[in-house]
Amino acid sequence: MADLAVKLAKVVGDRTAKVLAEELELETLEDLLRHYPRRYVVRGELTDIESLVEGEEVTILARIEKVNLKRIPGRKGGILEVIVSDGRAKLILTFFNQAWRVKDLREGREGLFAGKVGLFKGKRQLAHPDYLLIPEGEDKDEAVSDFAGKYLPVYPATKKIPSWKVAQCVRLVIDSLGEISEPLPNQYRNALGFPTLRDALRQVHLPASLDEANLARERLTFDEALSMQLFLLTRRNEIKKQRTKSRSKRGDSGILAKFDSRLPFELTAGQKRVSAQIEADLCGNSPMFRLLQGDVGSGKTIVALRAMLSIIDSDGQAALLAPTEVLAQQHYKNFQKLLGDLALKGMLGTAEVSTRIALLTGSTSSQERQETLAATRSGEVGILIGTHALLSEGVEFKDLALLVIDEQHRFGVEQRDVLRNRSEYPPHVLVMTATPIPRTVAMTVFGDLDVSILDELPLGRTPIQTHVIAASEKPQFLERAWQRIREEVMRGQQAYVVAPRISATDNSDFSTFGLTADELARVRRLSGEDEGEEITGKYSVEELFPRLRDELLADLRVSALHGRMSNQDKESIMAKFSAGEIDVLVSTTVIEVGVDVPNASIMMIMDADRFGVSQLHQLRGRVGRGEVPGLCLLVTNARNDSPAMARLEAVASTTDGFELSRLDLEQRREGDVLGSAQSGATSHLRLLRVIRDEEVILRARQVAEQLLESDPELNSSSALREEVDKLRQEERASYLEKK
Ligand code: ADP
Ligand code: MG
Repeated sequence: MADLAVKLAKVVGDRTAKVLAEELELETLEDLLRHYPRRYVVRGELTDIESLVEGEEVTILARIEKVNLKRIPGRKGGILEVIVSDGRAKLILTFFNQAWRVKDLREGREGLFAGKVGLFKGKRQLAHPDYLLIPEGEDKDEAVSDFAGKYLPVYPATKKIPSWKVAQCVRLVIDSLGEISEPLPNQYRNALGFPTLRDALRQVHLPASLDEANLARERLTFDEALSMQLFLLTRRNEIKKQRTKSRSKRGDSGILAKFDSRLPFELTAGQKRVSAQIEADLCGNSPMFRLLQGDVGSGKTIVALRAMLSIIDSDGQAALLAPTEVLAQQHYKNFQKLLGDLALKGMLGTAEVSTRIALLTGSTSSQERQETLAATRSGEVGILIGTHALLSEGVEFKDLALLVIDEQHRFGVEQRDVLRNRSEYPPHVLVMTATPIPRTVAMTVFGDLDVSILDELPLGRTPIQTHVIAASEKPQFLERAWQRIREEVMRGQQAYVVAPRISATDNSDFSTFGLTADELARVRRLSGEDEGEEITGKYSVEELFPRLRDELLADLRVSALHGRMSNQDKESIMAKFSAGEIDVLVSTTVIEVGVDVPNASIMMIMDADRFGVSQLHQLRGRVGRGEVPGLCLLVTNARNDSPAMARLEAVASTTDGFELSRLDLEQRREGDVLGSAQSGATSHLRLLRVIRDEEVILRARQVAEQLLESDPELNSSSALREEVDKLRQEERASYLEKK
């Protein structure tokens, strides 16, 4: 059996191995074999020169049309100008002081040419390209090794090692390769119609036809999806194997029944369905590990609260972990409001069944903290709400039965395990997220969780209206927008004005977006905007706030909120806004997640093109939560025909969060999205793209389930087990790194 972990030097020689390692980070045979071609050029089919983009590193197949040697008087060398063509467009190749190449580069010959597309006097050119001429005449028969097939692979390459050198190395490795172990059991491989791994590796590099290449690629993509799914399902099975205490509730006389009987509204069908799923989980003997997805305002919080109450009915405790202090605060107040006297245990005027809610954050005073910790330890506190502070040492429960995590994407996989290890029985875990995740992404990122979806908004909610305002082209529309805010306020409503940054010179707030400045730059680059363009919008809180307060909206009560204010100030502003004592809140995205002021009906987002699609969707979810329909105005200076404008139009055209998150993902490198959740394991994915390869992932999931059902330890395929172990180790390594 060939060992793919063998160092490349053994096969390609020390010198080449060094270049491969330095330039492409390829160390072993496997590394090189997994360095798949980006595409193929077909012998005889010349590359479309017209489509080449300036600045790109390209490998093209072209025919030499004309050769020009210009001597420079008084100098030894000269300029060799070779014009190549695809039959329509031309490209100039220039060589300095290399006149001797004339004897190779003859008119009529075809070859592969590689270099960076440059522009010289308005004409596209490659300066000093690498090239490999297609053999002709007598050479033809001897050249079999370089041009074995009709399809020539084009590899991600660099200046020091052109594509065909990579191809030569790959050929050496493939020729030297013995049998390699086949991870996919034959029955599955046959059913899927896939070639063996060995064949697939050969065919992806040296295909006899494009169909063959595609099938090989499909098989290799499937392999990635399969090991990922096996990894996740194995972990899920391990969780399921743990034993915990069944938490069956106290029927009609408990706190949950009391709460339900007082609810001013009927639960939606979705809320009932998901609640039933959770209830069943809580009654089981293995810990729940469930993701609850639902767009902003879909009513997740009620579902989570009901689960917590049911836990209290079974004499357990629940904890709610929120990503920010503002959100923890808000949950705390919201729960107090929703529960009323049901949450006043130990006080006068208590209902006959009751519990106690407590809040623990970084700014809880030490006296309060001691008191809360004691009451949590004794079991008196039924629901403990908090931020990361909940994870700190010294927080002990009498019997933690349920952990609810709000907005998982702000927490790492590792944090969710901290509290799980703090109790006698592993607690049930419910993760809530308002970021709608397409199914296959959920399956890949959260594949070890069960997923519940709330896909409808409570009845009577009017969908929010969104309009794009092109401020530079139609300044009168911007004027009108301020007027619109005034009208809403006159009607008794409130308004948000959101700016991308705190001050004109500040980038720090980008990090609170969920997108870092780098990510944002990349999003914009990917969507075709200028790479060099600096991320400086026109609007900032510090610039807008005085202008609104003193000029544009001088007749209204305007306040500002941003991440650099003290927690105390932030809270007091939020409290005033909640109480209706502020009409217009000018803020950064600190209000992004979960903030709930139903009386706010209009949001104006300045420099809206500076935000990601999903983020805009999250932001606008802050309005239209009450009876009055919500309005969101996206203000931008982006050009009418720009990709940025297209993004904003997309946000305006639909309120379907799932559709928008798809769009968002398509524009971002998916690795980034996955990476933030599971960087270790997903760095392994080379071909797999969670959106594009939806079908592959679904099939892999199925096969993984079947495989594990009959063979939970993967004894029948040591190669598969090794793949899964590799993912585990990588995840562990990246966890340790982050620690
Ligand atoms: P999410 O957490 O998913 O953003 P919430 O649970 O905060 O949503 O609910 C948003 C608003 O809708 C809250 O004011 C809540 O009281 C209300 N709500 C929840 N469920 C219903 C329902 N079934 N009918 C009417 N209003 C509801
Ligand atoms: Mg919420």
